[in-house]
Amino acid sequence: MVLDITSLINGKSSRVDFEYLIDTKDESNNLIPPDDVSFTAPVRVKGSVTDNAGYMALSLTAEIDYTSRCARCLEDIFGTFTLNFNRTVATKGTLQDEDNDEYVIVKNGFLDIDRELVEDLLLEFPPKLLCKEECKGLCSKCGKNLNFEACDCPKKKEIDPRLAILQKLLENDETL
Ligand SMILES: [Zn+2]
Ligand SMILES: [Zn+2]
Repeated sequence: MVLDITSLINGKSSRVDFEYLIDTKDESNNLIPPDDVSFTAPVRVKGSVTDNAGYMALSLTAEIDYTSRCARCLEDIFGTFTLNFNRTVATKGTLQDEDNDEYVIVKNGFLDIDRELVEDLLLEFPPKLLCKEECKGLCSKCGKNLNFEACDCPKKKEIDPRLAILQKLLENDETL
């Protein structure tokens, strides 16, 4: 969305509040979820631009609902990821480097933030999702979900890397 902040620039107000949605299905928004993740609803964006004696700042939160699978036990999970997005607002032509991450650029009184917001959202989205912090995962031998039941498989011990080679030789021996 393009925000009209002309009232801030010409001093008629010191704060502009906004609230809108970003459609995740609209390809032009480039909201491509990471592997194994689906976004299930539009991104909810809410925030304000404030002017404090000529210093303008943008502050917003964006929330996105998702479904995915637990990285350890592969159970379906769903949740909401919240991003806090804060930038200094600079007028076009006043910065040497307009690609600087700390700024958003206002052009003719309008602020277009969605591209940067979407970039940040995807960058900050958790790379590994778990059903719960202490998820026990699946047994690597029998595949049982250890959150629900225990199994009798021998648990892997930490092996000295030098002995691991020996262990491998022994394992290969068994298959002969
Ligand atoms: Zn899990
Ligand atoms: Zn097992």
